[in-house]
Amino acid sequence: MPLLVMKFGGTSVATLDRIRRAAKRVGREVANGYDVIVIVSAMSGETNKLVGWVGETSPFYDAREYDAVVSSGENVTAGLMALTLQEMDIPARSWQGWQVPIMTTSAHSSARFVDIPNDNINRKFDEGMKVAVVAGFQGVSKEGRITTLGRGGSDTTAVAFAAAFGAERCDIYTDVDGVYTTDPRISPKARKLDRIAFEEMLELASLGAKVLQTRSVELAMRYKVRLRVLSSFEDNNENAGTLVCAEEDIVESKVVSGVAFSRDEAKVTLTQVEDRPGIAAAIFGPLADAGINVDMIVQNISDEGHTDMTFSCPVEQVKRAEKAVNEARDRGEISFAGLVADTDVAKVSVVGIGMRSHAGVAAQMFKALSAERVNIKVITTSEIKISVLIDRKYLELAVQALHDCFELEKAG
Ligand code: ADP
Ligand code: ASP
Ligand code: MG
Repeated sequence: MPLLVMKFGGTSVATLDRIRRAAKRVGREVANGYDVIVIVSAMSGETNKLVGWVGETSPFYDAREYDAVVSSGENVTAGLMALTLQEMDIPARSWQGWQVPIMTTSAHSSARFVDIPNDNINRKFDEGMKVAVVAGFQGVSKEGRITTLGRGGSDTTAVAFAAAFGAERCDIYTDVDGVYTTDPRISPKARKLDRIAFEEMLELASLGAKVLQTRSVELAMRYKVRLRVLSSFEDNNENAGTLVCAEEDIVESKVVSGVAFSRDEAKVTLTQVEDRPGIAAAIFGPLADAGINVDMIVQNISDEGHTDMTFSCPVEQVKRAEKAVNEARDRGEISFAGLVADTDVAKVSVVGIGMRSHAGVAAQMFKALSAERVNIKVITTSEIKISVLIDRKYLELAVQALHDCFELEKAG
């Protein structure tokens, strides 16, 4: 039997009624002759609630128990989806991660897949099951503990299953009808893309566009999974949504394809750091060990053997970062005069594979921001993206200005 993977995100399974609507979509694919693996998220808001409960109970929590709690939202929707399908006379059953078993690393709250054996589920398909409903976002470590894959991880579960089972396609059903030039909730001028290249989607996702988890795009690229993003609220035809595909299959030829942003960033500066070989390793080693996701880094000009070192990280990690560098200082590994944290910054990025062969994109970007009097605090670039850190209050303005400046509302 040909096989499809269909993933439903939180808003698409937020109520029993929406689960019924999603189940009808699954039913239509079964009627079309497919076996289906359905990956479900927790009902919208549930994971946030569970994360909040963990934090309230234990501020520096045991990550294994964090995973035990926050993985539970998906278990509820998997069971409810299987029941709904059974009510429609479709042979279905639910699978929690450990039952498959979805084997992952032991990196709790950001685990990665190690192996997804397909024999248990395939045996059930052979026995007549039409739909396997799998709880997204979770797995099990070799120690036998429940793990989770990081926020938004159900997308990655879906792509990994599509690869492991050789699915014809992986359809990600969500609350927007595809991937846009920027978050349509921020910019009314955002335009839906019919296709986007893996490389561009990878950058957009890792720079904050949460429509797909970064890792899911990485896996789709590596295993050549046919990945589609589409609306769970609208009728979709063959060409609905956005196809994430290889660069050669793209017809648009714009230099910049999208604008991404990440709202909750912080800029941390260590002042009067001793400027000597090995100092960057002495600072960023302990930060890495503490699990801080350091993003942009700037080392300023040295003056009399001392320099300021600036980096950005997610705002919720600032306290932990502060603890890590203070401990390194207490151990005598580094010295600095003070730590200044600016917690009101956001990151805005422009992304496009066309940048590889076009000069001047950075200048154009900086000009557009300067015309709106938006001050740039830190800049980083790579082959196909340019990111800037700005005051959070200018975020919407900056996204609009860049969207206009690169004429993203027009197809190209
Ligand atoms: P789900 O619960 O289905 O996984 P998410 O909330 O994780 O849904 O992702 C969908 C959301 O991603 C949209 O509602 C939209 O606000 C946001 N988003 C951010 N950037 C983009 C983009 N470039 N294109 C489409 N959606 C985007
Ligand atoms: N429920 C998890 C989250 O909210 C995983 C997901 O929905 O993809 O992050
Ligand atoms: Mg998501």
